[in-house]
Amino acid sequence: MTHGQLQELMSELGQPAFRVKQIEEWVWRKNVSSLDEMSNLPKTLRHVLQDRVTLDSAEEIARQLSADGSRKYLLRFPDGVSVECVGMPSKGKLTACASSQAGCGIGCAFCATGMSGLTRSLSAGEIYEQVMHVRDDFGRRVTSVVLMGQGEPFANYTETLAALRRLNSPDGAGIGARHLTVSTCGIIPMIKRFANEPEQFTLAVSLHSAVQRTRDMLMPGVKKYSLIHLYDIMNEYVNKTGRRPSYEFALIRGVNDSDNEIAALCDFCRDNLAHVNLIMLNEVKGSKFQPSTNERAREFVRRLTSVGVEATIRDSRGSDIDAACGQLRQSIDGTLRTH
Ligand code: SAH
Ligand code: SF4
Repeated sequence: MTHGQLQELMSELGQPAFRVKQIEEWVWRKNVSSLDEMSNLPKTLRHVLQDRVTLDSAEEIARQLSADGSRKYLLRFPDGVSVECVGMPSKGKLTACASSQAGCGIGCAFCATGMSGLTRSLSAGEIYEQVMHVRDDFGRRVTSVVLMGQGEPFANYTETLAALRRLNSPDGAGIGARHLTVSTCGIIPMIKRFANEPEQFTLAVSLHSAVQRTRDMLMPGVKKYSLIHLYDIMNEYVNKTGRRPSYEFALIRGVNDSDNEIAALCDFCRDNLAHVNLIMLNEVKGSKFQPSTNERAREFVRRLTSVGVEATIRDSRGSDIDAACGQLRQSIDGTLRTH
């Protein structure tokens, strides 16, 4: 329910305006799962609300704990749809990785989520709730959020933005906009729209190759948004926002890790603000792709650095717990099918 809808409901019920704030505090800040916990609301109001609203929350149906402290959860919403989210603690910080959709319709060749297609988009509340689940399970504040779980956030733009705003709001999770990162496969019209949002949210673009033919093979769902156009729009994004985007590049042996690929990536990034995140491909069951060697990864860093582009090899968290996107769901579904 939006703030406006809740205001309307309270006025319809003849309640004072401050009830809206009280209820929102219970729902968004305290993440309670029942009306009975809203102890500062009169019992009669709680009773009336019982028939007017639902406070359904997601149920945790599986979890995996990594030796590095990461925790991965499979959450099921009341309609039976499930998504993954992950909590990654490090040095006093806690990052939550959340999903924006159940499944994904883009169909990238190396992605476990992409293999099963789109089930449905998530609501802002469902995206938000994943972060609260991580917070409550770790018992501490989430300091940053990445929308790098399942789904394509820009194929669910409105709800994604509403979730980001609530995560950012002091009345919600109170996480600084720069610590809220959206990762997109490169849906150009939405990158344009995102550049015009007033908040300083962070943008990551999954590139995976700066060679059109390779990218088309790896990411067939975004073929129509060509690299040339992506390059132009990212220029526009940087000029408009002054913020530095990251490019994600999963290193796949023999596919996108040749010298030619490095040269194309350097050309794509060199004249603009960019940070390249190199990721060792997480192997997905049933996929022919394998990660590159560490030497190749270091060669990418060396060459990018030599043309003035900052690059890091992402510390792959939870590799012992199927932490690549879509993998927990895939293995649980597999378990359910075989039993
Ligand atoms: N749909 C969005 C966000 C979710 S995917 C996007 O594609 O950007 C988050 C990141 O995980 C993306 O960069 C995606 O390309 C990457 N990813 C997907 N499968 C992977 C795998 N098997 N190994 C490494 N990275 C993977
Ligand atoms: Fe969807 Fe992102 Fe996976 Fe591609 S990598 S299939 S866009 S979730």
